[in-house]
Amino acid sequence: MKKLAVIGDPIGHSLGPLMWNAAFKALGLEKDFVYESLRVKSEELGSFVKKIREGAYIGANVTIPHKIAIIHYLDRLAEQARLVGAVNALYVEDGEVVGGNTDGEGALRALVEHGVEIKEKRVLILGAGGAARAIAFTLAPRVKELIILNRTRERAEELSSEVLKLATKTRAGGLPIKELDDVDVEMVINCTSVGMKGAQEGKSLVTKEMLRPDQIIMDVVYNPLETALLREAKSVGAMTISGLDMLVYQAVANFRRWTGREAPVDLMKRTVKERLYGHDRR
Ligand code: NAP
Repeated sequence: MKKLAVIGDPIGHSLGPLMWNAAFKALGLEKDFVYESLRVKSEELGSFVKKIREGAYIGANVTIPHKIAIIHYLDRLAEQARLVGAVNALYVEDGEVVGGNTDGEGALRALVEHGVEIKEKRVLILGAGGAARAIAFTLAPRVKELIILNRTRERAEELSSEVLKLATKTRAGGLPIKELDDVDVEMVINCTSVGMKGAQEGKSLVTKEMLRPDQIIMDVVYNPLETALLREAKSVGAMTISGLDMLVYQAVANFRRWTGREAPVDLMKRTVKERLYGHDRR
């Protein structure tokens, strides 16, 4: 039995085991692979990486708060993880434990699957944390302009200057959005936790007046599935893409790497959706 895990602290909330084990079962792989959630404290990161090196796990996903701290213990970083400065997956290549980051790839695939042509788009990214960095580095070489706004303005400016080498045009600023004179964009991606279940639920950094029917609005937040931002975007007739798509698609490349098979994405989406709706009803 090959073992995989998602590591974090705390880890109880993770949807990873549900999604991955359902996928293994659907493909008849449940006797070959198992995916577990593992609470790993910061001081245990080194020993967990050692376990991968020794073959106890074939890989892992990494979540809050270890996405940056884990780097210190790895043999190597894949290009995207090096750019982003954070890791969401660990795998073994040529005997080395490598850190990768598939969050940006997941967001890009979500856009592609929705038929979005990003090439000529001016894109507003809200946030400058891990998710924003992953998406910014992935989209920068592919879009017309990136505008990055963040509550802590300096982080937006720093990210903007980092992605500038990959992008033709990028601007940065603080929040609220109206701080920038001109934020005329075709696409908005919320990469902050605003709108997330809990204290931030029901909140949005974008006012309804800013939204237009011809825009594409994406949220990285996946719980709730329909955030306040997506609800308002839908109400004006804009195209909406939920964080669930990114969550599932960021797993696709790792699924292929770890199992040699294609991920059953529709089943994975359905599985997570059922769990989240169940939670919503309670
Ligand atoms: P992070 O690195 O901690 O960054 C958090 C970001 O949210 C920062 O830009 C922060 O601004 C901003 N923020 C937090 N509270 C805010 C508020 N009240 N008003 C304005 N901005 C606020 O976190 P992360 O890893 O990027 O994750 C962000 C969200 O993305 C989480 O909800 C996470 O679950 C989700 N996510 C989803 C996926 C997926 O696959 N769908 C993948 C990764 C993450 P400051 O810099 O000013 O603090």
